[in-house]
Amino acid sequence: MLNTRELKANIKRILRTDYIKTIDKAKDYEKYNALSKAIMELTIDNWDKTIEVYSNSKQAYYLSAEFLMGRALGNNLLNLGIYEEVKEVLEELNIDINDIEEIEEDAGLGNGGLGRLAACFMDSAATKNLPLTGYGIRYSHGLFKQSFKNGFQVEKADNWLKYGDPWSVRRDEDTVIVEFADCSLKAVPYDMPVIGYKTSNINKLRLFKAEPLEDFDFELFNSQEYNRAVEKKNRAEDVSRVLYPNESTAEGKTLRLKQQYFFVSAALQDLVRNFKKYHGNNFDLFKKYNAIQLNDTHPVIAIPEFMRILIDEEKVEWKKAWEITVNTFSYTNHTILREALEEWDIELYKKLLPRVYEIIKIIDGRFIRELGEEGYSYNKINSMKIIYKNKIHMAWLAIHGTHATNGVAKLHTDILKNQELKDWYELYPDRFLNKTNGITPRRWLALCNKELSGFITELLSSDSWITDLKALKELEKFAGDKSVLNKLLDIKQLKKQQLSEYIRINEGVETNPNSLFDIQIKRLHEYKRQLLNAFGILDLYFRLKENPDLDIIPRTFIFGAKAAPGYFRAKGIIKFINEIANLINNDESISNKIKVVFIQNYRVSYAEKLFPAADISEQISTAGKEASGTGNMKFMLNGTPTIGTYDGANVEMVQEAGEENNFIFGARMEELEKIKETYDPIEYYDSVKGLKRVVNTLIDGTFDDGDTGMFEDLYNSLLEGASWHRPDNYFILKDFDEYRKAQDKVDKAYRDRLGWARKCLMNLAYAGKFSSDRTIMEYAKEIWGIEAKKI
Ligand SMILES: *Cc1c(COP(=O)(O)O)cnc(C)c1O
Repeated sequence: MLNTRELKANIKRILRTDYIKTIDKAKDYEKYNALSKAIMELTIDNWDKTIEVYSNSKQAYYLSAEFLMGRALGNNLLNLGIYEEVKEVLEELNIDINDIEEIEEDAGLGNGGLGRLAACFMDSAATKNLPLTGYGIRYSHGLFKQSFKNGFQVEKADNWLKYGDPWSVRRDEDTVIVEFADCSLKAVPYDMPVIGYKTSNINKLRLFKAEPLEDFDFELFNSQEYNRAVEKKNRAEDVSRVLYPNESTAEGKTLRLKQQYFFVSAALQDLVRNFKKYHGNNFDLFKKYNAIQLNDTHPVIAIPEFMRILIDEEKVEWKKAWEITVNTFSYTNHTILREALEEWDIELYKKLLPRVYEIIKIIDGRFIRELGEEGYSYNKINSMKIIYKNKIHMAWLAIHGTHATNGVAKLHTDILKNQELKDWYELYPDRFLNKTNGITPRRWLALCNKELSGFITELLSSDSWITDLKALKELEKFAGDKSVLNKLLDIKQLKKQQLSEYIRINEGVETNPNSLFDIQIKRLHEYKRQLLNAFGILDLYFRLKENPDLDIIPRTFIFGAKAAPGYFRAKGIIKFINEIANLINNDESISNKIKVVFIQNYRVSYAEKLFPAADISEQISTAGKEASGTGNMKFMLNGTPTIGTYDGANVEMVQEAGEENNFIFGARMEELEKIKETYDPIEYYDSVKGLKRVVNTLIDGTFDDGDTGMFEDLYNSLLEGASWHRPDNYFILKDFDEYRKAQDKVDKAYRDRLGWARKCLMNLAYAGKFSSDRTIMEYAKEIWGIEAKKI
């Protein structure tokens, strides 16, 4: 139970000491900081206890360049079970909890799905009392802030620390030194508590900040050379300054490699130090007490770095060190897109990390010898060498240097085994496994949709579904219950009204909550096919212009997506959709039937408002390209049917909830594999009714791209091949007609209100499999060998 009197007193005390203010004069952010710090204080004892309880058992470590945490306050209150009480305490102080929650900046220390997965895993591990610690970088600037100017994306630095950071504790005493050939840096840990849901366990996310060994050069400063005096400090701090610095130049690439090595080396030093505290130099025990997960290839440099520590510093002999390494590490593959398989120039490694490079060479040499002894051919060996043509192949190093490689959905893992990593699967069949992704039901339902969450608890007479999501399937028995179905529709309506209001304030666009909310929110990428959605909208618009009596359900198309700053074509797609929005929203004959909104700065906190308000979820990637997706699961958990392709986790989702409750369309992966050499989009362009009309808007003057060449580039990408890409590489023209038909089915189905509500209910009822609690338990049992330890 929360001591509300003490909490009030603490908030006031912190406001006095930190800001020299009484509560009536305090700004919202000051109240937010004071409340957050007061809540942090509540966690101290359990945090210490958790560390103690974990210390004599096997622990797992999640190394990730990204943790897309979003906001902390609301989630922590929910997980501590004190949200309602705190809300009341604030009311008594004349503070609206929503205002305080809204002032918090997102911790946007990641790009998208991969980073958000890491965040969901942290929540699930703490909730399941699993000894899991996250290691990453405390970027002072996360993913850029996005706005639109004339429909073009504009990027600004994300200064998420501007109001301070009440949820982190700096631990100077645990600082370690990371050495590069040209400099040494301090890695200063900042610890964030990861508070499990209704458990006392508190796990840790440890993020390292880069600092110079010395604050500034005193002599230079004294001789009034101010810039030079702080130059070293700035260079040092650059390493943790920003998430994914531009790598188009050599300096940019160097910085990225420095980031990777920086946090990985710091993490390994930290956990080796901790190991030695309990087990001395008996490294035979290392794998018995430690499991280290590499989230994608960004932290794969951990493998040679750990070998370096064992061999050079701990004097373990090579064979034994390698055996310990392989058995300690495991690796998650997140993508099959060729361009995302990370490779590093050996020159860069040699210059920055000569000893690590040497170790990679030895690993590679031994590996090649093994392959030779196994009778592998020259060609096969070349295709599997870790160092080939002066590049280090991080994925190869990862598979060879770990005991487990996993994909993130069934389809994705099958593609790895049978296509992309076929040779590797044949070499190490026991190392490959699947761990279908999941999402935390706390943030993605209990917190972001309190109305639906409360209703579920009422229907099931228990809130145990929040930690046992499979229990949702009990909801199926209400599939014929009119009052339940109507209540579901009412809740959806309410969430749409709330979103509509938020969009009005933040985007200055009016939306009609009585229209069908059709939502596509995810990073902007060609394979995710926002362009297919855009063509569908334009086609609908032209059909309406031709036939104003066309009977359609009014729709609001909502997009949210950031494009990587250097990804010209993705930025072109944003501009194109904004132009479409401009055309349609300003056409009075149409604007009460369709509306298009591209919301700005899509991020976790915005996502929490969008997922619950969706009528239909757009998951329309080219089959075989989306490894899993997790946004698809967030919609499902909020009772939203999917219009989507057979891709990633969509396959498993419709297996659970029934194809009849979703709208699956488009070419399957097997078909695309077969036709990819001969596919000619022109055939579709010429023959599919209405297609030419929408594609040609890219070049016929319908829209203006401000002479950037963006639209012509998009047009050419669809119809003209080049040496480095095929025309319509992502089969947009091929799938267009089926997509349009699927959308017409959505329109028809939506008219039957109870029938629609039933689809929503079935999706909700069968979302249980997609809890990250299930995923993390699979990692714990089948990869890490760790067990729950409740304090
Ligand atoms: C869930 C999530 C993603 C991942 O979405 P996908 O549709 O799976 O690509 C990306 N960004 C944010 C902010 C998210 O919450």
